[in-house]
Amino acid sequence: MKNGVLRMWAVGLFFMLLAVMPVGAKQPVKNVVLMIGDGMGLAHVTSLMIDRKYQPIQMERAQAVGLVKTYSANNRVTDSAASATAYATGKKTDNSKLGVDPEGNPMETILEKAVEEGMATGVVVTTFLPHATPAAFFAHVNKRYDYSDIAAQFVESGITVAMGGGRDHFTKRDDNRDLLQELEQKGYLVVDSVEKLDEVTSGRTVAIYPTKKGGLPGPPERGDYLPDATAKMLEILGNSSKKGFFAMIEGSDIDHASHANEIEEVIAEMRDFDRAVGVAFDYADEHPGTLVIVLADHETGGLALASNEEDFTQSESGIKYCFSTGGHSGVMIPLFAYGAGADTFGRVLDNTEVNRLMCEILGLE
Ligand SMILES: [Zn+2]
Repeated sequence: MKNGVLRMWAVGLFFMLLAVMPVGAKQPVKNVVLMIGDGMGLAHVTSLMIDRKYQPIQMERAQAVGLVKTYSANNRVTDSAASATAYATGKKTDNSKLGVDPEGNPMETILEKAVEEGMATGVVVTTFLPHATPAAFFAHVNKRYDYSDIAAQFVESGITVAMGGGRDHFTKRDDNRDLLQELEQKGYLVVDSVEKLDEVTSGRTVAIYPTKKGGLPGPPERGDYLPDATAKMLEILGNSSKKGFFAMIEGSDIDHASHANEIEEVIAEMRDFDRAVGVAFDYADEHPGTLVIVLADHETGGLALASNEEDFTQSESGIKYCFSTGGHSGVMIPLFAYGAGADTFGRVLDNTEVNRLMCEILGLE
């Protein structure tokens, strides 16, 4: 009898504890923002720190820092298409393939899974919308340069918000389709700049700049486009579905400036991308349950920050920014995570694992 009473007390205490304990020690993640600095290696991030005279940059607010292996299925030096496909699908593919495996079979992307679950989704880029990095999240093609097909697939993607350049891919087409008109028929508000969205707070929205078939100009001509588009997209996505959202934001032209080996342009692009990172981190502060992951698809330029003098017993006489290639390199890239679930990403990861962790954290199968 005495034992029975004790057992009742113990069982009662157990259920009381269950009731007062939060469900899981970690905060549930509702929104994931993936920010890709295209071509942004560790030397690129350090260049921005030097430019800022080591005043903390936004990325330094990160609560967890990791390193990512970027090799593709057929090359230790990946291109944007294969690496973005790894982030989008969790599987490696050959360079220049998008959203398909090396045999050409389509692979479902995290953005498509989120659409199926009724979540809001979006992409913001400084390049043109059918370019490799954004396209890996909504398109499936064997050749990344098949922009016409990629633009047509964009119309069917179910994405909530998209902002970037390249209007002519949608309107001046060999098949004579007007894809922007088709988007309007599907209920999208289509405008030609983020400034025209001041009154818009939710719903399907495309801001596509009339930059012919190319992307937006670099800073300073681009002005506040990237931070403003980041803020506006996050606002719209946050209001568009109670189930949360998946967003991808790309500082696309860090890569282009690095291919050109133009360090001043690289640093200008890094400043701009870091401002957008600050906007996303602030959003995570104001909206608990938001995770922001900042990383790159690969390093571009093989950038090294050497001392002007090889004799390092001397005091410094300047930094020599040395590019070792006009192409990409195979070094690991840095990852900065902020907000709910950030600590999950604080280690050495393969680019495919980043996808698997994001899917797991959002409950996407
Ligand atoms: Zn590149």
